[in-house]
Amino acid sequence: AELARLDAALATVAAGLATLSAAAGPQGGIFDAQAALLDDPDLRDALEADARTGTSAVDATRSVFAAAAADFDALTDPYLRERGQDVRSLERQVLLALLGAPPQTAPDSEHILVTDELDAATAATLDPARTLGVVTTTGGATGHGVIVASSRGIPVITGRAEAADLADGTLVGLDPGAGTLWLDPDTATQQQIRALAETRATEASAAATRSHEPAVTATGRRILVEANVASLADAHAGAAYGADGSGLVRTEILFAHEPTAPDAATQAAALIAVGKALNSPITVRTWDPGGDKPLPFLATDGEANPMLGERGLRAMRRYPEVFAEQLRGIVMAAREVSVRVMFPMVTEPDEVVWARSVLADVLAENPDPPHVEAGIMVEVPAAALRADEFAPLVDFASIGTNDLAQYTTAVDRGNGRVAALARPSEAIWSLIYMTCQAFGDKPVAVCGDLASDPDLTATLVGLGVSELSVRPPAIGLVKDAVRRS
Ligand code: PEP
Ligand code: MG
Repeated sequence: AELARLDAALATVAAGLATLSAAAGPQGGIFDAQAALLDDPDLRDALEADARTGTSAVDATRSVFAAAAADFDALTDPYLRERGQDVRSLERQVLLALLGAPPQTAPDSEHILVTDELDAATAATLDPARTLGVVTTTGGATGHGVIVASSRGIPVITGRAEAADLADGTLVGLDPGAGTLWLDPDTATQQQIRALAETRATEASAAATRSHEPAVTATGRRILVEANVASLADAHAGAAYGADGSGLVRTEILFAHEPTAPDAATQAAALIAVGKALNSPITVRTWDPGGDKPLPFLATDGEANPMLGERGLRAMRRYPEVFAEQLRGIVMAAREVSVRVMFPMVTEPDEVVWARSVLADVLAENPDPPHVEAGIMVEVPAAALRADEFAPLVDFASIGTNDLAQYTTAVDRGNGRVAALARPSEAIWSLIYMTCQAFGDKPVAVCGDLASDPDLTATLVGLGVSELSVRPPAIGLVKDAVRRS
């Protein structure tokens, strides 16, 4: 009888995952992966063996899933370690099914989600109309789940251990701008929070009225305010918010659902769709795998410190054909939409010389090649410190402050406990200023998360930055901040 209950519960969960996967479209991979874990014969055998000893279906589920999650937790690879979360999520779903409870979904009413960490795939499936905000209890501020959620207009505040034990249904307020979290606020505080929300809404709608106009500083400098794009939906959102193109297309997230490396034509089609949605130039970053952004078709396992390992362009030197095929896709797209290419995680000028030579070879495959500018991301402090050596090699630079802050302050961008140390400071401003000075008249963009903060716009513009690539919902406010600079 217990085995039959277990089988029925597993079938219920599998059917639920199939529904979620279909509803999530291209981002449904996370649910397919969970379904594959659930289907693992070893897991089923262990459940069956446990149940045959007379253990109840519930107890068998708890002990077998806990052991499987512990196996993942013990791995060194951060991507595989995170799969422990998937196993715990499955355990919860199977227990609910065994108890006859409806599968756990986000409530239909407006809510704030409290979770330990937020991964990119989950963030992509949240409904911005109902999930008004997310609070993570252990995650850091610039992980990719946070970036995906914020780009979709869902504010996130991170690393709030005090929210870990909240009961479902507790009233909470959050102000992502100031990083304030109110737990169970009294009536007077609730009124203050409502007033603050109204002020913010008024500011946002005032900014929205001029968000399609160019952003020009008080002294007459035109600053491009572009959208960071990780999906076609982001590109449409960027266009709706008035983006001057895209300063960062995160290809490793755009194609994260592809189990094998997409060919040039597939990549070109997706990039053309992004370019047409924005109807303005796009900056395509070449694959930036590693750290918290695994690509299923590029193994980067076995590194003790993946954030300091074969990330970005470094990985491309191990997979030159994957890199060349991506550049082919970008060159194909450049025939139809205006495209520049950007290389991430650059440390040495020699790497750029190599990347440009592969690009030159790919362009030479075309009898009549389109014009494609190339730039570097400045994310490693060494690249900022040697910016004068890089400037002659490329057409532009784009400063990735998420990684630049991580490597300058020795703060893991995914670790909420030390996140405060990575706040913008003189250290980051100096590196940005050095880059702008070295690049002279060539464009310097900031595409890291701090470009989305309108309180920092005047500083960035003052340091010499000429482009700000931001989360789509921030475009109007950042353009207004440029006008006040
Ligand atoms: C950055 O590091 O600031 C950046 C824009 O790249 P990513 O966040 O994708 O690593
Ligand atoms: Mg980066």
